[in-house]
Amino acid sequence: MERTPLTRDRRVCLRCGSGVPPVERVFLSVVIPCFNEEEGLGVLHHRVHGVCESIGETFEMVMVNDGSTDGTGEALIRLAGRAPNIVVVNLSRNFGHERALLAGLTVCCGANILILDADLQDPPELLPEMLRLIQAGADVVYGRRRARMGETWFKRVTAWAFYRVFDFLSDVAIPRDTGHFRLLRRRVLDVVLEMPEQRLYLRGLISWAGFRQVPIDYDRAPRLVGAGKWPLKKMLGLAGDAITGFSIKPMRFVCCLGAVCAALVLGIAGCWLALPTGDRSANELPIVISLIAILFGFQFSSLAVIGEYIGRIWEQSRGRPLFVIESVVPSSLRSDAHPGQVTRRD
Ligand code: UDP
Ligand code: MG
Repeated sequence: MERTPLTRDRRVCLRCGSGVPPVERVFLSVVIPCFNEEEGLGVLHHRVHGVCESIGETFEMVMVNDGSTDGTGEALIRLAGRAPNIVVVNLSRNFGHERALLAGLTVCCGANILILDADLQDPPELLPEMLRLIQAGADVVYGRRRARMGETWFKRVTAWAFYRVFDFLSDVAIPRDTGHFRLLRRRVLDVVLEMPEQRLYLRGLISWAGFRQVPIDYDRAPRLVGAGKWPLKKMLGLAGDAITGFSIKPMRFVCCLGAVCAALVLGIAGCWLALPTGDRSANELPIVISLIAILFGFQFSSLAVIGEYIGRIWEQSRGRPLFVIESVVPSSLRSDAHPGQVTRRD
């Protein structure tokens, strides 16, 4: 399959292949990544369509099927058959939330872009208020969670702790307690699409872009149906991506740890040498062994921290596409000149 470079300056439309910049053909794009969300799609469409229609401007719903294994793909095609402003982006497999969202953001062509989850935990009904803030001069309106309903205490505690640790570590001010739910102007999205990151933390990249970003507070509802798609392993992975993508403080911490260990060892060695030879008894062996074990522990965990960064450098230099689009429906939106494989790199 031929590889198509994505022209992130958007000189070429990914959907129609024309040389006409696609931006601002529609007023609003709602981008929704979907992974095994079959049951809730009807309500999702009903609520999002209703609120978008009430605005009285042109809009599209870009629904990304992230390699779902249930009937999500078929349900989306059925919806697109009935509603002409639905665009379905089928990825070739499951690429994960961040990459699926990026695929949708790459394909959408609205002047304003609303990012929404398919499970309706974030209320699309806030859209008119968010648009008012945009019209009042904001470039990004991000949803800030006052409460998180229907989530386990474990998820709430880990999310709370993550945002605070991340805030401490991050070199960029990224608002706490925010998810993907936000409305952005096209000029902010264009900056984000220029970023070559392989490991994505999109809400961080959007904050990094700057411009005028304002919060809108809301209570996060429970999932409409089904279960969350973020097992602990994935959550830890995203936290690692966020921290390594926005901070080198963990590596600095490792340097400090090395200095502390070296000072400790020198101090102990000095004390030991200062003892009269007769007092350097063999009974100290367990202490020495424990110290060596602790130092090795520190050394291995330091290597692991550095390894996390090196792994990401390797991944970045490998430069694989971030996602593969298998098809876009309606297919008329995509010419034959644009085969399925898409990469974010120029
Ligand atoms: N999602 C996705 N790919 C994945 C996992 C999730 O596209 O591999 C979508 C999912 O369908 C939903 C959104 O990402 O629209 C958020 O997922 P979820 O509700 O599980 O996350 P949480 O609300 O717990 O952060
Ligand atoms: Mg959710």
